[in-house]
Amino acid sequence: MSSWSLPDEIQHYEKKIFDLRQLLEISRALNSTLDYEYLIQAVLDMCLAQVQTLSAALFLTPDSESQEVVLVHGYKGFELNQPHDTYRVPLDSPLATWFENNNKSLNMREMEEAVEDDTASMMLRKMGAELIVPLRAKGKLIGIITLGEKLVGGEYPDDERSFLVDLASLSGVAVENARLYERATVDMMTGLKNHAYFQSRFREERERAAKRKTPLALLLTDVDKFKVFNDTHGHQAGDEVLKAVARVLNAAARKSDTAARYGGEEFCMIMPGADQETAMEHAEMIRKNIESMTVMHEGKEMKVTLSVGVSLFDPELDLKTNKTMVERSDKALYACKHGGRNQVQIYSSALE
Ligand code: GH3
Ligand code: MG
Ligand code: MG
Repeated sequence: MSSWSLPDEIQHYEKKIFDLRQLLEISRALNSTLDYEYLIQAVLDMCLAQVQTLSAALFLTPDSESQEVVLVHGYKGFELNQPHDTYRVPLDSPLATWFENNNKSLNMREMEEAVEDDTASMMLRKMGAELIVPLRAKGKLIGIITLGEKLVGGEYPDDERSFLVDLASLSGVAVENARLYERATVDMMTGLKNHAYFQSRFREERERAAKRKTPLALLLTDVDKFKVFNDTHGHQAGDEVLKAVARVLNAAARKSDTAARYGGEEFCMIMPGADQETAMEHAEMIRKNIESMTVMHEGKEMKVTLSVGVSLFDPELDLKTNKTMVERSDKALYACKHGGRNQVQIYSSALE
């Protein structure tokens, strides 16, 4: 090696160190969230920040059973003339198969050589992709990242391509983790958060309310006479109603509220910052919305009513456990049932 090339050599390693530091930062950022939507945005933003282009898009398998990767909402820069979810790459296409076997990126020229006459690759080319990077988790292809033309023109250099492949590996693992978390915390039937998630979220909100001295309300809802409903209309009709009730709760939840399926036909809502007035208004709105809701099942119109028990955070009683507040909401709910159902009640010591 001649001595005059040393600065180049040093520059090369300095760039490597810089890239590795960046990857470490990116890894930290990606692993600090399990929020799927946020993660997708973060991956796209990181791609745009790392290589000079204005277009980046992510294709992902919609679920673990899926046989294709689909363009996800939130893509940047690409101008599409069709709805985003019509852009799909089947997992058995030559392109996906190539990525399954090679953890490398492909530019358009290489793609043509790697896969001939592939409809998926033609679609990617048409949308304006210049570089395709595979997204893998546990050795399987779960998505692809497509990047548009570089701002300065020309091809993506090798160092950027290898950086993107590393970034995609980290992203693949993070996306997979977020999905596993989503699956473990969401109730399959209603799409609301499940009981386990409710318990851990409620603990966090209690701690926050205690620390910041802010109010916190807990709503517990129960469908009235649901056993009779099931006996009359059948369990399947009952399921349809529960899904509809869940939609109402979801729509009623403010940004900071958490609506969850507590169990069976019982749902709950954590309302950080809500005082008695806000909590009661909200509970009453939910009750009314359910009362006026009609669910169609097999051509028949079905209706139910809902009772709602409300309790408010009390630092004297609720510092240690979720149980005390859940019990008070439950007592209020019991009072609703006792009082004739289809109503809202807030806990008071008079209910003891
Ligand atoms: P109350 O007004 O006192 O709440 O009467 P209820 O019949 O609703 O009360 P109870 O808690 O005794 O019964 C709840 C019923 O909800 C029993 C069960 O069959 C039904 N249920 C619970 N989970 C589901 C579900 O996922 N789907 C359907 N279809 N029914 C369910
Ligand atoms: Mg019940
Ligand atoms: Mg019930």
